[in-house]
Order: sequence, then C-alpha cells, then structure tokens
Amino acid sequence: MNEHHAQLKGEIIDILKYCINCRFCLPSCPRFQITSKEVSQGASGITRSLFYAAKWDEQDKDVLNELRDIVYKCTTCGSCEVACKTLSTGTKLVDAIEKGRELLIDMQIGPMPQQKKVLESLYNNGNPYMVTAKKRKEIVKGLNLKSYAEPAEFLLYLGCSSAIEEDVQKTAVALGKILDKANVAYGVLEDESCCGEPALKMGESALFEEMYTRNLDLFQRHGVKSIVTLSPHCYDTFLKKYPQDQMHSVKVQHYTAMLADLVKAKRLDFGGKLEKKVIYHDPCYLSKSNNITNEPRQVLSSVPGVALLEFGDNRVNSLCCGGGGGRMWADFDSEVNRLANIRVGEALDKKADVLVTACPWCFINMRDGAKVANAEGSLEVLSLAEFCAQAL
Ligand code: SF4
Ligand code: SF4
Repeated sequence: MNEHHAQLKGEIIDILKYCINCRFCLPSCPRFQITSKEVSQGASGITRSLFYAAKWDEQDKDVLNELRDIVYKCTTCGSCEVACKTLSTGTKLVDAIEKGRELLIDMQIGPMPQQKKVLESLYNNGNPYMVTAKKRKEIVKGLNLKSYAEPAEFLLYLGCSSAIEEDVQKTAVALGKILDKANVAYGVLEDESCCGEPALKMGESALFEEMYTRNLDLFQRHGVKSIVTLSPHCYDTFLKKYPQDQMHSVKVQHYTAMLADLVKAKRLDFGGKLEKKVIYHDPCYLSKSNNITNEPRQVLSSVPGVALLEFGDNRVNSLCCGGGGGRMWADFDSEVNRLANIRVGEALDKKADVLVTACPWCFINMRDGAKVANAEGSLEVLSLAEFCAQAL
C-alpha cells in the first residue's frame, strides 16, 4: 500500500467512524428508493462497504470492482447528510464517498468504464462533451451573448451544458434577455473551461486541479471579481472546492439568487402575465448543499399569473434527479427506474402545466422523463430563466 492510499484510507475511516449504523439515512437515499430497497445500494450500505474495505485494506480485485460499482452509484445528492445531521451523528457521507472514489482511481479500479472518455475529454477539450475548445468557442459566439469586458457587474459563467447542449443553450439565451431588460452589464468568456466538477466527483483530483488552474488563470487575466453561474454544480464547486486563498475576493452566486436580488431591488419586473400552474423542482446542489430554496420561488412568484405548486418532498428533502456525482455519464439504470421519471410522474399527478428547475442536468433528465412518460403535450419542462423570459 503506497503512502497516498494509506492517507486516503485513514481519512475515509476518520469520517466514517462517526457512523453508528443506525440507518436513519437509508430511506432518504434515492439509490435505496430505486433499487427495490436493497440496503447495500443505499447510503449506509455504500458507506459501510467503503469503511470496511478501507479498514481491512481490501486488495482482492473482484471485491474492489464490486465496491467500485456500489460507490460510483451514489449521485452525491446529499440527502443522507441532511438526514444524518437532523437525526443522528452528522456524518459527512459524501466526503467519504468522494475520497473513496479518489482512492479507487488511485488504485486504477475507478472510474466506471463509461466515464473514462469523459475524463479524457475534460483534459483534451476542457469540457466533458467531446467538443473541441475551438468548436466550443464558435458555438458560444453564436449565442450572441455579451462578451465579458470590465467594468461588467459579473462574469456569467455558462458551464459546459449551457454552452454546448442545444436545449440548455436556451437557458443562457433567455437569461441574457432578462439581464438586458434589467440593464445589467454582464459578460461571458468564450474561453472558459469546465469548472472541473465531473472530474472531482469521479475521484480524479489531479484533473480537477488542472481544471481549476485553467479557470483561475482566466479569471485573473480578466480581473473577474464576481461570478454568476447557470449550474448549481459550478456554483458549489467555485464556492467550496476552488482554493479559498484565490477565491476569497470573488463573489459567487447562482443565477436564481442573482435574479431574486434584482427583483427585490426593483431592477427587474415581469410585465407579461403567465397564467400557469408551475411546480418547482429543487436541484440538490442548490437546496441540500446550499439552502437556496426561497430565491427561485421568489422569482417565480414575481411573475404575474403564476400559481406555484409544490412536490410532496421539496426544498432540502427534494428527490434527486439522478444526474449528480458524475452519473450524467453513467446511467446504467433502466428508463423505468430513472429518478427523473418519478419526479415527472409526480408533477403530472399534481396537474402542473410547467415543471421548472434551475440546473442544466435536472432539466435534461426531466425533459427526457417527460418524453418517456409521453407527457410532452401536457407538461412543459423549462429552466427558470426560460420560463421567466416568456414574461418579459
Ligand atoms: S444516519 Fe448517520 S449514523 Fe446513521 S447510518 Fe446513516 S451515516 Fe451512519
Ligand atoms: S449522497 Fe445521495 S445517492 Fe449518495 S449515498 Fe447519500 S443519499 Fe444516497
């Protein structure tokens, strides 16, 4: 066992020794819910397996491969941490799972085979979508957003999905329209690299370091002091995972919070009436990780005519869409079992006209869920920016 393995194992054991195996976290785990309630597939099962593998210095390749399959199924949604903090010992399960993945990568057991090309693309192209940096730049130019130039109020950090995925680009364009209406001097940087979150969540810490070095250099060169992100994943990563000494003077916001500020300051109002029943899905990395739950609702409620509905489980208790933790590129579950499909079913039961969310990956998963449910005619799936732009 090399020194780094020993260190990671020690760190995993140090985190998980606080777990008393009460299993209060288990029912909240989306994996547990969609795997016929198999304990080994839920939060406490995943972390127990990791704990004993680290403690017993497991070396058997087959056992380690099995462990990999379990550990990489976690979406890093954070539901288990919310449950453990409320009901038990406050164990940091997600940190342990992330360290477990780092260890498995280091031992050349991880990531999942399907994720390897994503990591390669991150390194080669600066994004996980196998699109060259040159092509990405051309695509972003085509969106006709304002380029970043001082003294912009903030850098609008697009992230990879909003720059590259056709349906998600509509969110970026809609947000540009809203900001123009509010006379906000924003700007985008065509050269941005992925924030590095997929690498981090898959356990590739060295690649994550490479990605944040590229971005920090870019931010520094352009004198960026304030960033607004479209994705909750970029937001959480800039806020908590980038080196604090280089980010301490940079303000980071998710766009829903920025829009809520504009509405509050009366810099933005929606003149158009949208008489729609809207159900808002809380993305995990806004709600559970960062407690941003009021702001999106404040913005939606400021649109005249909107009737806001709620899922049975909402805010920090909302069901994960299944896309976090690198699982956008490792969806091995049958379509029937996909978490987003369950969410779409609930929205249909509530008779919502529109399912709104504020994360590109939730949006993609919910959009696909609506297709699977043949619900495209009755339930519109939109990002918060797209929905609100209709009311300008
Ligand atoms: S709720 Fe906390 S202490 Fe209980 S099993 Fe889950 S992680 Fe362990
Ligand atoms: S982070 Fe989410 S998916 Fe992962 S173990 Fe916890 S509850 Fe389950």
